[in-house]
Amino acid sequence: SENSGFTDYYNIDDLLTEEHKLIRQTMRDFVKREISPNIEKWAQDAHFPSEIVPKFGEVGAFGPTIPEEYGGGGLDYISYGLIMQEIERGDSGMRSTASVQGSLVMYPIYAYGSEEQRKKYLPKLASGEWLGCFGLTEPDFGSNPGGMVTTIKDMGDHYLLNGAKLWISNSPECQVAVVWAKNEQGRIKGLIVERGMEGFSTPEIHNKWSLRASCTGELVFDNVKVPKENLLPNVDGLRGPLGCLDSARYGIAWGAIGAAIDCYESALSYAKQRIQFDKPIAGFQLIQKKLAEMITEITKAQLMVWRLGMLKNEGKATTQQISMAKRNSVDMALQVAREARQIHGGMGITGEYPIMRHMMNLESVVTYEGTHDIHLLITGADITGIQAFK
Ligand code: FAD
Repeated sequence: SENSGFTDYYNIDDLLTEEHKLIRQTMRDFVKREISPNIEKWAQDAHFPSEIVPKFGEVGAFGPTIPEEYGGGGLDYISYGLIMQEIERGDSGMRSTASVQGSLVMYPIYAYGSEEQRKKYLPKLASGEWLGCFGLTEPDFGSNPGGMVTTIKDMGDHYLLNGAKLWISNSPECQVAVVWAKNEQGRIKGLIVERGMEGFSTPEIHNKWSLRASCTGELVFDNVKVPKENLLPNVDGLRGPLGCLDSARYGIAWGAIGAAIDCYESALSYAKQRIQFDKPIAGFQLIQKKLAEMITEITKAQLMVWRLGMLKNEGKATTQQISMAKRNSVDMALQVAREARQIHGGMGITGEYPIMRHMMNLESVVTYEGTHDIHLLITGADITGIQAFK
């Protein structure tokens, strides 16, 4: 609604608690203060602002659903979604940093780790003293992570880790990496690898046109000795990494709506001000069609993720439901960004407006955490009972 300052055509705010709205407002103020004034320059310069990491910790962006005794926020999944939405309204790259830390590093340590591991890592990750990354994708195994060739070998008092991961968000700046590798029996296991371990390096990937304010890199393991106590004891097989992805994808389903809202609000305001043929371009039917379709799609996506959040709170959201929402929100946001860019005319390609940055960012978001097409095939398999991707 106009009153609350949040794009909310269907009064979805009525479904939120006062606490939810307070959390959203806090994150929004944070993004306006710490991210929005600088993001254009960070992105243009391909600069990852590492000083944002402890600030994210302080405002509660890392691990909102992790219990407070481990430094998390102890919040529900609607709160988590709202936090991701507000960060991604600022920038998808910044949201990626927070998603990886919370859902892909803290979540597995919390869900699959020992009590010692939880106590050792979670508070430092929650506060942003340490930055973590998640190593699943490999050069030859992206959509098909089960084929991974990174291995661990049991050496008695430690594991020997060999292999490489590619496209890893946060890797160049990480202190800690949650890494998935196969043991001698071919079972996928999770390990916590720490910077400084001999044979472990994190080369950065340069020249990205997308997520330029987020750092991305490789993880290279050359006979890395990993202490036995760094193995995540309570998980076995592909369900380990996939469980983490469920949590991260859920956040993306909310986050991408934030990017869409930012594009929509910018387009609406520009269209009302920009005069052509003696009237605001907002008065032309073709521009109204674009704007009306944007708000319709945003509203549908908002309702979908709200319902998904309620299911998640009850522990009932399925992987397949999460796939549908991730795919829908990101595709919707990309369409909105493309149409918003047209509405801005030539101005739409500049850094004066956030549109082109969001659009380029979303080209990564539509591919990572399961591609657009893979999520469609997950829905297809769910409704037909026949897997079409193997
Ligand atoms: P591929 O799997 O090779 O896919 C290429 C194309 O083929 C896609 O269009 C895909 O949909 C299609 N395709 C593949 N299989 C099928 C099929 N069976 N049927 C139909 N179509 C198919 N990974 C991590 O582990 N950690 C991270 O932190 C991380 N961060 C990332 C950050 C960025 C900026 C990017 C770009 C990627 C990141 N990734 C990360 C990797 C990401 O998850 C992968 O890029 C993604 O899973 C796709 O894998 P791929 O790039 O190897 O593409």
